[in-house]
Amino acid sequence: MAATIIDGKGFAATVREKVAAHVARLKDENGITPGLAVVLVGEDPASQVYVRAKGKQTTEVGMNSYEHKLDVDTSEADLLAVIDKLNNDPSVHGILVQLPLPKHLNEDLIINSVSPAKDVDGFHISNVGLLGTGQKSMVPCTPLGCLMMLRDHHGSLSGLNAVVIGRSNIVGKPMAQLLLGDSCTVTIAHSRTKDLADVVRRADIVVAAVGRAEMVPGDWIKQGATVIDVGINRIEAPEKGLKEDGSVKTRLVGDVDFASCSERAGAITPVPGGVGPMTIACLLANTVTACCRANGLAEPEGLTA
Ligand code: NDP
Repeated sequence: MAATIIDGKGFAATVREKVAAHVARLKDENGITPGLAVVLVGEDPASQVYVRAKGKQTTEVGMNSYEHKLDVDTSEADLLAVIDKLNNDPSVHGILVQLPLPKHLNEDLIINSVSPAKDVDGFHISNVGLLGTGQKSMVPCTPLGCLMMLRDHHGSLSGLNAVVIGRSNIVGKPMAQLLLGDSCTVTIAHSRTKDLADVVRRADIVVAAVGRAEMVPGDWIKQGATVIDVGINRIEAPEKGLKEDGSVKTRLVGDVDFASCSERAGAITPVPGGVGPMTIACLLANTVTACCRANGLAEPEGLTA
């Protein structure tokens, strides 16, 4: 039987509606407008697209958006000074430094210079430690979006076998922590994992965050499992014809082979339209959460882990 398609695009719209409702309440009842500052260093085209999308969605839910576009050869000291200013600005509740940074900047140093309370990406070492010890933290947006969709689909995740493929700091590791927090039995797989197919076949939940196009075939998937595909990979699509410059058109695919996996899975996220839209929605959710915490106000229900 074909899998249920988990509609990340629709789910993200619901999250944004909840955020907008809470923002409206904060404005009406407390006279506070949450603000998100995004810092972009350089002109990486993909980063520029993300930053534009973040800015647009931030204002659409009624929050203030502040964009800081810095020259590609901005020094570490100058970038740290910008972040310090934002850390001390009471109208800014969330700060996001768009990654990747140019090579001459120390990414760990920069990430850890953001105030943990305003670290809406959840990458600061304090937030990583808080999440790892089951304490209230800012949770990384992509894994938070995956968790929301899993909770919505399953209700309780308690006791389920979850396999996370990928151990990056931004997706794989925090995803595993969140699933552990919801009482899954968690396995983290990576490039050195032996018999990955066997490991994945035991999973009730598979989260693929690898960055390899359609790597997971359908026969790795246990009948009825839930598959969350984080991967975003651009591949050539000759069936779509040629671009104006004569090169082959492309399309986006995930880390799982959607056609064969959806034959066996109980539920699956598509690419595009699955995890991707949830990531920005969760960034907005984190910003409103950070604003509430900063002002000692009740946090919105269902928008954090
Ligand atoms: P990283 O490159 O940082 O991590 C990839 C992970 O996959 C590593 O842990 C690596 O293992 C593992 N891996 C690589 N090859 C294999 C293999 N053959 N078998 C098993 N594991 C393997 O990627 P990210 O976590 O940053 O991103 C993963 C994917 O998710 C990418 O496609 C990215 O574009 C996408 N993404 C999507 C987002 C969204 O909003 N939807 C947000 C963030 C990422 P090892 O550690 O051993 O090298």
